[in-house]
Amino acid sequence: MAYLDELTGIPSRRALREDLMKLGNKYVIAMVDIDFFKKFNDKYGHDIGDDVLKLVASNLVQVTGGGKAFRYGGEEFTILFPGKSINDVIPHLENLRDQVSKSGYTRKSSKAQRSKSKGGNSSQLFVTISMGVCEKNSKYKYHNDVMKGADKALYRAKKKGRNCVSK
Ligand code: GH3
Ligand code: MG
Ligand code: MG
Repeated sequence: MAYLDELTGIPSRRALREDLMKLGNKYVIAMVDIDFFKKFNDKYGHDIGDDVLKLVASNLVQVTGGGKAFRYGGEEFTILFPGKSINDVIPHLENLRDQVSKSGYTRKSSKAQRSKSKGGNSSQLFVTISMGVCEKNSKYKYHNDVMKGADKALYRAKKKGRNCVSK
C-alpha cells in the first residue's frame, strides 16, 4: 500500500522511484505544482486544501498521451511519459492544465456566509497548476538530471505568471 499515496490514492513517491528505474533511453518527466496553494490553505483551511489536492490528483491520473502521474510530495506531482519526446507530450499537458483550471471544488457555505452573500448555499473554488517538462537527451542523461531540468522549467513557468507549461 506504500505504493499509493495516503491522501490522494494515486501512486506515491515510492512508486515513482521504482518506475524511474525502469525508464529506457527516451522519456519525458513533467513536474507539476499547484499555484499559490499556501494562500488557498490560509483562506479556506487545510481540510478544504486536502480535498482540493485530491481533486487535482483525480484529474492528473487521467493524463492522456501515455503519461503516468504520481504524488511527489506536498502540492507537487510528477508525470512520467516513457518513450516520448517533449513535443509529443506538450498538447496533453496543456489539456490537463486546462482541465484542472476548470475543475471546481463545491464548497457548502455556512448559514452565516449565506446570509452575508445572498447567493446560493454553495460556491465553487478553483486552483491552477504550473508545469515544467524535460526530456532525456545528451545534456540530461540520468533521471536525476531530467528531474532537475523539469524543476528548472517549472520555475520558469511560475515566473511567466503560473497556470502554464514551460520546457
Ligand atoms: P507557488 O505558486 O509559488 O507554488 O506558491 P505556493 O503557495 O503553492 O507554494 P509554497 O511552496 O509557498 O506553499 C505550498 C503550500 O502547499 C504550503 C502548504 O501549506 C501546502 N501543502 C503542502 N502539502 C499539503 C497537504 O498535504 N495538504 C494541504 N492542505 N496543503 C498542503
Ligand atoms: Mg511547491
Ligand atoms: Mg505551489
